[in-house]
Amino acid sequence: MDLFAKDDAKREIDKLSKDIAKYDEHYYQNDAPLVTDAEYDALRRRLEELEKQHPELAQKNSPTQTVGAKAAKGFNKIKHSVPMLSLANAFSEEDVVDFFDRVRRFLSLPESDTLELVAELKIDGLSFSARYEKGELVQAATRGDGEEGEDITSNIRTIDSLPKTLKGSGWPDVLEVRGEVYMDKADFVALNTAQEEAGKQVFANPRNAAAGSLRQLDASITAKRKLSYFAYSWGELSAPLAETQWESLQKLSAWGFVVNLPEMRLESTVAGLHAFYDHVQEKRSGLAYDIDGLVYKVNRLDWQARLGQVARAPRWAIAHKFPAEQAVTVLEAIDIQVGRTGALTPVARLRPVNVGGVLVSNATLHNEDEIARKDIRIGDTVTIQRAGDVIPQVVSATRTDETAPKYHVPHTCPVCGSEAVREEGEAVRRCTGGLICAAQAVERLKHFVAREAFDIEGLGAKQVQAFWEEELIREPADIFTLEARDRESLTPLRNKPGWGKLSADNLFAAIEKARNVPLSRLIYALGIRHVGETTARLLARNYQNFAAFRTAMDALAAGDEATYAELTAIDSIGSAVGDALKAFFHEAHNRALFDALAAHLTVQDAEAVNTSSPVAGKTVVFTGTLSTMSRDEAKAGAERLGAKVAGSVSTKTDYVVVGADAGSKAKKAAEFGVTILTEDAWRQLIGS
Ligand code: NAD
Repeated sequence: MDLFAKDDAKREIDKLSKDIAKYDEHYYQNDAPLVTDAEYDALRRRLEELEKQHPELAQKNSPTQTVGAKAAKGFNKIKHSVPMLSLANAFSEEDVVDFFDRVRRFLSLPESDTLELVAELKIDGLSFSARYEKGELVQAATRGDGEEGEDITSNIRTIDSLPKTLKGSGWPDVLEVRGEVYMDKADFVALNTAQEEAGKQVFANPRNAAAGSLRQLDASITAKRKLSYFAYSWGELSAPLAETQWESLQKLSAWGFVVNLPEMRLESTVAGLHAFYDHVQEKRSGLAYDIDGLVYKVNRLDWQARLGQVARAPRWAIAHKFPAEQAVTVLEAIDIQVGRTGALTPVARLRPVNVGGVLVSNATLHNEDEIARKDIRIGDTVTIQRAGDVIPQVVSATRTDETAPKYHVPHTCPVCGSEAVREEGEAVRRCTGGLICAAQAVERLKHFVAREAFDIEGLGAKQVQAFWEEELIREPADIFTLEARDRESLTPLRNKPGWGKLSADNLFAAIEKARNVPLSRLIYALGIRHVGETTARLLARNYQNFAAFRTAMDALAAGDEATYAELTAIDSIGSAVGDALKAFFHEAHNRALFDALAAHLTVQDAEAVNTSSPVAGKTVVFTGTLSTMSRDEAKAGAERLGAKVAGSVSTKTDYVVVGADAGSKAKKAAEFGVTILTEDAWRQLIGS
């Protein structure tokens, strides 16, 4: 062979192996793929082809011979008693014919014997193995590298539909059930919207969202995510389940597992499989979950056993993949959507195009970094992909008009005109208009009346929504003119459905009472980014009264450096809070709204800081479970006495108050030589 060609092949194999290993790590360990599945599959196929031509050049740990990626750090590891494998792929009908022939040849089946295959949907999620002993769920793991996975026992327990105790009878004492955990398309969209608004990681597709949700070190996060699963296989068994794949799955279903029985078929010809493949492909976009193909499995389990496995996949099964759903169209415009919490999201407006049976005219562009990375400009010819089937994405762009300018996400909110700022380390830009921005106002008003803010009885989220829709309350000041306007109204509140004289009077009385508001609650109610309850209290205590706060905010907004320095010098207040306050009060309409509101209020001064208490000016950390008061009570009490309450122990800490089961903080205190107090000693010190 040509030496050059061999050199080239070696270089290419090395590069492909390295790239694929990198993509695997991002995909399997971080749940954040760098390339699309179609791109990845193409690289893999190219590597397989080269390795077939030059077996001597294949690397020892080639990704074509391995499964997934190693279990991630932080998780306990679980060794699989029976390895968890991947699947060989078929991309065409020809590949399926080859599979049939291979199996028949391997088993030396005479023509007269039928080869039955079970066709199942290939669910696009991540596989798990759940171990039951004497009918009780004892352990669960991810696939990991096939030999060893991550311990996800506590995470998987949060999936309601997974039995913790098996139903019925007849199950083997040891039963390892395997299947796929996935996230419904609708739940995925909801999760991503919430993540995007919170400025957190958005998942590329439901598979990554499911993997990212299940593989959490903190299972309480998993519990908040909506995960589902299908069981389709098994690992270690103390007794066989049945004689066929088909019957085995019926049994799993009877014992309480969710098995996708309605979408399974028993077929014995390539034509039959293909008809089913076409049928599923047609209904694919209408399914509630993502699939990326079908899996064909030899039905007879004795034949499965004879066929065994090659390096990374069983010989008795094959995945018949669907082609990636991509299409090419023109990017006509980029619109900015403003979310309920002010996040600006660029959306591609496309010349409508058919992608896998669905007419697509919008696609997400995620954020400005994505647009810059892919260099997407208006007028470009773009490739659209239904990522994991749901929200279409712009994969890439080619320039049609060389003079097209670069696209920049606007720095003002398209809904209210306020400045939109992007904080360091955040991917999203946010509108600072808050209460005056129509896109955010309802949510902000709900926050305004919340228990920790104005706390108006009878005016909850539901009522705020209704008043907003009727245009009775559009900004906070409107709450305090509601009664006066109601008196003039032809349809007063007491006559409206769901209201009566008593409830209307009660509401007006509660609003009246709320006019008298502590400065800290007023500040908190504004819903300024980074200004939570504690920060609002610190601000109130620092400025003491409304007039001083208002003057300082004016100065801050005007760019006065001394005010900014004084503000950020307050312990626990940093530049994030400083910048957020500055941005908020910099907007003339926010100032106007604030003043209009304040005109209706009597703002109580902050409680004077106690400077004579024994803990005034001291920094205290509470840790462990306290027995006579809640942590919040303890903190509030300490703050009233002029102490600063910190969350972590440092050399600046004066006291660490330890309750039951205090952990690392108590240890750290001892290391730093900080005074450690029991709850009793603390109470004695403060004289309570
Ligand atoms: P696979 O997903 O192609 O097939 C094997 C898996 O299918 C099994 O492990 C199981 O989890 C799943 N499965 C779903 N339904 C099943 C059923 N009914 N019966 C049996 N198994 C079922 O293989 P893989 O090794 O998990 O992953 C490879 C695929 O992952 C690639 O094809 C690629 O699309 C994607 N990937 C993408 C990237 C990227 O960077 N984009 C990186 C790595 C992998």
